Amino acid sequence: MELLIKNGVVYDPISGVNGEKMDIAVRDGKIVERVNERKARKIDASGMIVMPGGVDIHCHIAGSEVNTGRLLRPEDHFRDFERKTSVTRSGVGHSIPSTFTTGYRYSRMGYTTIMNPSMPPLEAKHTHEELSDTPMVDKASYPLLGDWWFVLEYLRNNEIEECARHVAWIMASTKGYAIKIVNPGGLEAWGFGGNVHSLDDQVPNFCITPREIIRGLCRVNRLLNLPHTIHVHTNNLGQPGNYVTALETMECVRDLASDDKPAIHITHCQFSAFKGDDWRTFASGAEDIADYVNCHSHVTLDMGQVIFTDTTTMTADGPFQFGLYGLTGNKWVNHDVETETSAGIVPFRYRRKSYVHATQWSIGLELALLIVDPWKIFMTTDHPNGGPFTSYPRIIAWLMSKKAREATLKRVNSRARSRSLLSSIDRELGFYEIAIVTRAGQARALGLKSKGHLGVGADADIAIYNVNPETTDPSRKYKAVRKAFKRAAYTIKGGKVVVKDGEILRHVEGATMWLDVQSLEPAKITDEMRRRFRTYWTVEYENYPVTENYLEFSKPIPVRASV
Ligand SMILES: [Zn+2]
Repeated sequence: MELLIKNGVVYDPISGVNGEKMDIAVRDGKIVERVNERKARKIDASGMIVMPGGVDIHCHIAGSEVNTGRLLRPEDHFRDFERKTSVTRSGVGHSIPSTFTTGYRYSRMGYTTIMNPSMPPLEAKHTHEELSDTPMVDKASYPLLGDWWFVLEYLRNNEIEECARHVAWIMASTKGYAIKIVNPGGLEAWGFGGNVHSLDDQVPNFCITPREIIRGLCRVNRLLNLPHTIHVHTNNLGQPGNYVTALETMECVRDLASDDKPAIHITHCQFSAFKGDDWRTFASGAEDIADYVNCHSHVTLDMGQVIFTDTTTMTADGPFQFGLYGLTGNKWVNHDVETETSAGIVPFRYRRKSYVHATQWSIGLELALLIVDPWKIFMTTDHPNGGPFTSYPRIIAWLMSKKAREATLKRVNSRARSRSLLSSIDRELGFYEIAIVTRAGQARALGLKSKGHLGVGADADIAIYNVNPETTDPSRKYKAVRKAFKRAAYTIKGGKVVVKDGEILRHVEGATMWLDVQSLEPAKITDEMRRRFRTYWTVEYENYPVTENYLEFSKPIPVRASV
C-alpha cells in the first residue's frame, strides 16, 4: 500500500516544482508527506523524469459517434491490432481503437485522466457503457447542450436561472462533467439542411442567435459554479476565414469572466484559425489568435494538432462533416440525434504534400508556440480528428525542438513551407512547460483538484519517463525524448504500478467522474414538459436519466450551485 519514488527529477508545475531531485511518497492511492522507507515498495527513478499522470481535456473515445466510426472502418482495425497477454485483452484500431486498447495505449504513455468531449444527452447510456469499458484511466464526458431544445427555449425567453437549474438536472441525469457547445445554432439549422454562418445569424424556429446561446450558457456555467468553463467548438469550424469567428467567440464572453477563472475554452483551435476566402487563398490565422490570447486572460485553448496519417474525423458538427464529405468523396455517416444534436463521420488522410493539410499542421504548432503562457493552450489532436492520440510523443518533440520541426517542415508542400511561420519561431518548450501543456494546465482548466499535480493529498497518478534532463538536450536529442514519452518507464494509477517500460503490468478500472450539481431549488418539471418529452424524444422523461448504478465505478463530484 506504500510506495516511494526515489531520486527522480520532478516536474510538478502546480506545486511550483521545476526539475528538482526529490522523492515522492504514496499511501493508499494518494500522495503523502512521507512513508516508512523500510517497508514501502521503492522505485529508483534516478536519471528519470517524474510528472503527474497525463490529462487529456479533449479526446473522442466513447459513445455512438466513436462506435459508428468503428463500424464504418474495418480497414482501421485490421492494420492495427493488439494481441492479448496474460494481463490485457486483445483489441484493434489505429484511429478509433476499441475500448480496452484505448485505455492501454493512454496508460503506456503515462496518461491517467481523459475527457470524452461529445455526448448527446440521449445517448449518455451508451457513452457510459463504453467509458466503463475503458480501463486504466479516469474519465468524464461533456453533454452537448448548445442546441438542446429546452436550453434554447429558456435562453430565448431570457430565463437564465431556470435554464441553469435545468442544466443542473441534465448534468446529473447524463452523469456529465461540463457544458459542451458545438457550432451553436448550426446543429439545429442542420436539422433542416442549413447552417449558421455568423454569431448573429438567427437559428431557425428559435429566434435566438449563436452569440445568445454562448453568452447564455456561459452565464449558466457561472451560476452553477461548474469546475470547467463552457467548452466550445466554434461556428464555421474548418472554413477558410473562420479565425474571425474564433476571435468574435472569445470576445463575446469577455465581460462575463471573473478575475480568477477563465470564461471559455475554445477547443481544437487549429480548426478555427484559418485565414483566406477559399481553399486557394487559405492561410494561417494563428498569429491573430495568439495576439488576442496573449492580451486576454479569460480564454483557454487546446491545439487540435494535425498529424500526417490516416485517421477518422467525427464531430457533432453535422454540416461541417457534410462539407468534408463533399470535399473528399469518402464514405460518410450523418446522424441526427432526435431533437438534440447532429453528428457526422468521414475517414480522412492528412498528406504532407497537400498545401492545406501542411498549413493546418503548421497552424497547430504556431498556436502552441506563439501563445506565450503555456497555461492557456494545451496539447491535443482532437483525437481522432487531427490524428490519433498515440501521436502525442511526436507533438512533444515538435514543441521541444526546432530541429524536429525543421525535419518535418523539409518534407511538406513547398508553398506551405514557404508561408509557414515555423521557420521564424525559435521557441522550444522545456520539460516544465511540457508538464503544463500535457497535464497541469489541463487539470487546472478542468477544475480537477486532485489531478495534474503531486502535492500532498493528490491522487497518486504518476508518470515516470526514462529521459535524463541533466544529460539530454531535447532540442538536439528529440528522438530520445519522443521514445521516452511513447513508452513510460512507469505509469502509476491510484498508487498502483500499472505500466513498466511501456508494458501493461496490471489491469485497473478507472472511475467515471461526473458533477452532482446541487441547485438551491430543483428544476421545474411540469406536466407540459413531460408531455413535450413524449413529443420531442423517443424516451420519456422518467427513463431519460442515467442512474448511478449504471456506472461501473462512479465518482460524483459535488458542486454547489448559486441558483
Ligand atoms: Zn472534438
